[in-house]
Amino acid sequence: MEYLLNKQQIELKEKTASFVQKKIPPEVAREVDRQDVFPHELMNQLGAEGFWKINIPKKYGGNDGNVIDLMVFFEEISKALPVLAWTAGDVLLYGNNILKVNGNKEQQDAFLPRLAKGDMRFCFALTEPDAGSDAANIQTTAEKTDSGYVINGSKVFISGASVSEIAVTNTRTAADRYRGITSFLVDTRSPGYQASPIKKIGYKGSDTCEVFYKDVEVAATDILGGEACLNKGWTQVMRLLNNERLVLSACALGISHTILNEMIRNVQWKSKNSRPAGRYQDVEHEVVEMATYLEAARSLAYRAAWMEAQGKDCIKETSMTKYYCAELGKKIAWTGIRILGEQGQTTDNLTQQFFRDIPVLAIGGGTSQIQKNIIAKTLGF
Ligand SMILES: Cc1cc2nc3c(=O)[nH]c(=O)nc-3n(C[C@H](O)[C@H](O)[C@H](O)COP(=O)(O)OP(=O)(O)OC[C@H]3O[C@@H](n4cnc5c(N)ncnc54)[C@H](O)[C@@H]3O)c2cc1C
Repeated sequence: MEYLLNKQQIELKEKTASFVQKKIPPEVAREVDRQDVFPHELMNQLGAEGFWKINIPKKYGGNDGNVIDLMVFFEEISKALPVLAWTAGDVLLYGNNILKVNGNKEQQDAFLPRLAKGDMRFCFALTEPDAGSDAANIQTTAEKTDSGYVINGSKVFISGASVSEIAVTNTRTAADRYRGITSFLVDTRSPGYQASPIKKIGYKGSDTCEVFYKDVEVAATDILGGEACLNKGWTQVMRLLNNERLVLSACALGISHTILNEMIRNVQWKSKNSRPAGRYQDVEHEVVEMATYLEAARSLAYRAAWMEAQGKDCIKETSMTKYYCAELGKKIAWTGIRILGEQGQTTDNLTQQFFRDIPVLAIGGGTSQIQKNIIAKTLGF
């Protein structure tokens, strides 16, 4: 896919790979997973190196990159430490992208320069106990008051909710399923906002939380995009989906790349040391199949990203990409664990860590089943 990258994107790929090589050796990646705490220090280092400017418009001091720039960054980071890519989403996706696509001038002026400097993080709060795949079923309310709105309800599985300054909170403001949703920029220091991290098997340190809103007061000007965007929340979410799905696909490509490399090194070692697994051609064939599928997945993903960057209609292509990359990632991870044999049952390798991370990519941004539903519609079913 290198043929698709422009000069800026090639430089970004090299710069990210160099950051990863210097700052995230496998011992560091294993330690972040063991400690299960938000990687503040690595996030600050990414900010100091200017990575938060990737997709900020030039007039706010950014590099004005598109979804391909984002994918290049997310793929490289995911090769070394998937959870750092996930937490980078708290700036690049939920901060920069949301404001760039849906924010009004006042909101962009207030937040984009601070996001570029690494001064703040955002989280995106949509999912609720009764609204996961059926996201339009949200029940958290924002009721009009004399001074603005008051938010009551709860959210689940909100990444970065206890470490972010702003929670982009989707609320119900009218009965209509789709035209009754409004998104607010909620200051997480507001009285009544409370976030508690959930323990997970993978993406440890991503600060995925349960969030409670008890009489949280917000101003009408805190509506994402301004007061004119009352009840426009659903349309705003839809505008972000292609980007999010492509970025998550890039994460799956990065994770798969590292597992595949560990698999290859292991089979080569066994072969040199006359261990049975390395002598069988069908083991080699299995690795060859995974390597081939991964090349195909990368081509699918960057082609869809190219379409998105050109402003072409690519809902089918992004859903196919998300479905294929996430499912292939799970297959490669399972194959990796099996081919490592007894080593796959120890905790000192990245394969087992990434094996625990990869399933989330088939859940977030719409599950694989939801992607299939979307693809089915585009095929005329
Ligand atoms: C680690 C992690 C981080 C997350 N971070 C965030 C975040 O930052 N912000 C946020 O808002 N959300 C976040 N989420 C939530 C995520 O978006 C939801 O988990 C996802 O949308 C699926 O919803 P659900 O878990 O309620 O599953 P459900 O919707 O309950 O689905 C359960 C199963 O049923 C299947 N299913 C459901 N409906 C259909 C259908 N119509 N057709 C076919 N199959 C169907 C699903 O594919 C799935 O296999 C996160 C989740 C995880 C695990």
